[in-house]
Amino acid sequence: MPSFLQSKDWEPVSLKHLIQFAVGFGLFLALLFWSPTGFCLIVDHANLLFHEAGHPFVGIFSRRLEPYGGTMGQLVFPIVLEQIK
Ligand SMILES: [Zn+2]
Repeated sequence: MPSFLQSKDWEPVSLKHLIQFAVGFGLFLALLFWSPTGFCLIVDHANLLFHEAGHPFVGIFSRRLEPYGGTMGQLVFPIVLEQIK
């Protein structure tokens, strides 16, 4: 496990960063709310990101399964997030 994941020393979130997060999240919600086609640039392009990241990730373990890694990455990420929720 990488050392940064083992560290238990977390920095508190400053008010400035909390406000920046709230503004960014508010803009994201506005984008979702006003998307006429249902296509949300940030979310749908993130889906592509997980698809493409799945290829080399699966390729580490199996060259034969690497072409399928895109679909696996695209499907696994939402399923994992749904389980965490
Ligand atoms: Zn692909």
